[in-house]
Amino acid sequence: MDGATGQAGAVSGINKVKSPIELAYTIMNHSPHVMLSGKGAEQFAELHGLASVAPEYFITQSKLNQINKVLSQKDSMSLSFYDPNIKASKMGTVGAVALDQSGNLAAGTSTGGMTNKKHGRIGDSPIIGAGTYADNASCAVSATGHGEFFIRNVVAYDIAAQMKYKNLALKEAAQASIDRLSKLDGLGGVIALDRNGNIAMPFNTNGMFRAYAKANGEIVIELFD
Ligand code: ASP
Repeated sequence: MDGATGQAGAVSGINKVKSPIELAYTIMNHSPHVMLSGKGAEQFAELHGLASVAPEYFITQSKLNQINKVLSQKDSMSLSFYDPNIKASKMGTVGAVALDQSGNLAAGTSTGGMTNKKHGRIGDSPIIGAGTYADNASCAVSATGHGEFFIRNVVAYDIAAQMKYKNLALKEAAQASIDRLSKLDGLGGVIALDRNGNIAMPFNTNGMFRAYAKANGEIVIELFD
């Protein structure tokens, strides 16, 4: 999502496009739509010359191990996005928020989704306002976590709305949204950035791989609380 224009692009339910985030960006810039899904999205990608791969390209041993572990548990209905052995989940959702020197914000989120989800399930990542949001007037947000909670609580927009309508600072707004999730037992976190370069990265799990880089060269990488 582009915080300067309010334009957004999203894609869901695909397994042949090499770079789904590039497809989302192409949908934003070259279609009148916000979200395309499934076959139509893949046709659109082909039309615009985006690289395609066999679905197997996305299968990794660590993800296979993760799903086999979940399936071997008694309750195979359980969904997981977070592995206590955080090394096993480092290939999960990737989110980015950015601010340019003109004060423009942008947010992007890409994911394979939760482990052991139903075929056809769409998470929060491509849903504007839930897992991804950007508006120059407030902030840019990218989320990770149990998507259903982020959708039901419109978390990314919730943070922006509190800044816009309640005049909260980014840190307070982001923390308040995560606190609301905690009360509902919804797990996850966000990375968020406002137009003054303030950064907030609250989460209610044991860890969330996160990092930031500032214009002055400062780079910070954090894994756990
Ligand atoms: N939020 C993603 C989903 O619900 C999962 C994740 O962040 O790992 O699909």
